[in-house]
Parts: sequence; C-alpha cells; structure tokens
Amino acid sequence: MLSGPSGVGKSTVGDRVLAREAGLVRSVSLTTRPPRRGDVDGRDYRFVPVARFEELRESGRLLEWAEVHGHLYGTEAAWVDGRLAEGKDVLLEIDVQGGMSVKERRPDSALVFLLPPSRDDLERRLRGRATDREEDVVRRLANASAELAAASRYDYIVVNDDLDRCVADVRGILAAERLRTSRTSLGG
Ligand code: 5GP
Repeated sequence: MLSGPSGVGKSTVGDRVLAREAGLVRSVSLTTRPPRRGDVDGRDYRFVPVARFEELRESGRLLEWAEVHGHLYGTEAAWVDGRLAEGKDVLLEIDVQGGMSVKERRPDSALVFLLPPSRDDLERRLRGRATDREEDVVRRLANASAELAAASRYDYIVVNDDLDRCVADVRGILAAERLRTSRTSLGG
C-alpha cells in the first residue's frame, strides 16, 4: 500500500514502479467523487453513484473503504484476491484510514508512507495541479496534517524529494518484502 497526503505524488510514483515491475498490478478503487479533468473511468477509478457504493459496502464486498475529502473510496476485495491468486502483487494507493484497515485484515501487507519534502512543497504541488477548486485545495491541505500524524504507524517512510530515488526506494521495499521468510517455503 502506498499512502501519503494528497498531492505528494502517489500516482506518479506508483505509475513508475508499475511500469518497471511486471508482477505488480494497481488496484483500481471505487469512488463516489466526480471525475476530474483527465480521469478515465475504469483506469483511474471506477466512478460509482453513492447508492451503488453503499450496496457493495453493506454486502461486505469491500476490503476497505473510507470517506476522504467528503467522498467515499473503497477497494473491492474479490478483485484483489483474484490477482493474488494469479501470483501477482497488488499495489493499493489509498488513504491512511484504508491503510490501517487493510493492515488489520491482511497483516502480511506492507504499508509505505510517501512524505513530501516540506509542507510548502506539498502546497505548491496541490496548487500546481490546478484541477481542484480552491475549497478542495484548502480541504486537502487540512487533511494532510492528519495524514502526516499517521505516518509513524506505517512500515516504511519514503521521502519524495527526488522522483528516481523515491521509485528506487519503493522497488527496494517490494523486493525485500518478496524475500520475507514467511513468503518462502521455509516460512511454513
Ligand atoms: P483523489 O480524489 O485525489 O484521487 O484521492 C483522494 C484520496 O483518496 C487519496 O489520499 C487517495 O489515496 C485516497 N484513495 C483513493 N482510493 C482509495 C481507496 O480505495 N480507499 C481508500 N481508503 N482511500 C483511497
């Protein structure tokens, strides 16, 4: 799982890691938020009405879900399990609430927190994105403080000051996680 405040670069880092790791696939989350300019349904998210989201949640089909910035986001359990059964690793780009619930339900997952080099840098990135309204930017910045407070509960911290370095760090974590004794025949 890759978490971190909005605007820290999760999808850029995730995309680069995915491009270099054949055995890794990205989970496409469900969301009730309206698509942003450039968002493609089925690729970036599966955009669903609130009623549909609630139906999936009530029937226990979500591995995790959270309300972030006033919208619902969630991961469909069957999709993740299907990929794992094929022998693939699954990358989840989710918020800290989701990260915590997945860790509880799947203790063998690895939580990576992506930190911005500074708060100013984060604000610059959010404003530079220019796809969000001002009120959304303000809300995302306020949320960032809560997200940063959760970083200490993560398994790994990676600072996104240099993109190549950051991608190499995440790939290093993936490599080490794949070599855990518990995942080998010696681990039982
Ligand atoms: P955005 O609307 O900017 O794409 O995402 C807002 C936040 O929702 C980000 O922190 C992102 O990681 C989080 N998010 C995206 N998908 C999921 C999901 O399936 N579950 C949870 N818990 N958070 C998600």
